Amino acid sequence: MSDCIFCKIIDGNIPSEKVYEDEKIYVFKDIAPKAPVHLLMIPKLHIASLAEVEDQHQDLLGYMMRKVPQIAHETGCEKGFRTIINTGDEGGQEVYHIHIHILGGGGRLPFA
Ligand code: 5GP
Ligand code: ZN
Repeated sequence: MSDCIFCKIIDGNIPSEKVYEDEKIYVFKDIAPKAPVHLLMIPKLHIASLAEVEDQHQDLLGYMMRKVPQIAHETGCEKGFRTIINTGDEGGQEVYHIHIHILGGGGRLPFA
């Protein structure tokens, strides 16, 4: 998607602080962190949101969920972390390329 900022980050056309990358996913630091560790995990495949996920994406989403704790553990969230997927306007989604927020590294997070 040529007008998607996260696709541009994957392509290197917008700079980002990369934490992890493989053939399926890209993980980088959120530009406005809400916790000492605040990462965004995105698939290289452009999917607009969780509401746009189709049967063909199940393996990819499972892969992402399996990678979350591994990357969290490697980035300072050994004692736990929070994952958030905002979906759609009323879900507070701002960027329409599906992403998993990974937050932690600063003590117990408040309930939200
Ligand atoms: P959403 O509200 O869509 O779930 O979250 C979008 C997230 O992307 C926000 O936390 C915001 O700070 C982050 N973000 C937006 N634009 C950029 C950017 O250009 N670079 C980085 N690293 N993060 C961004
Ligand atoms: Zn995209």
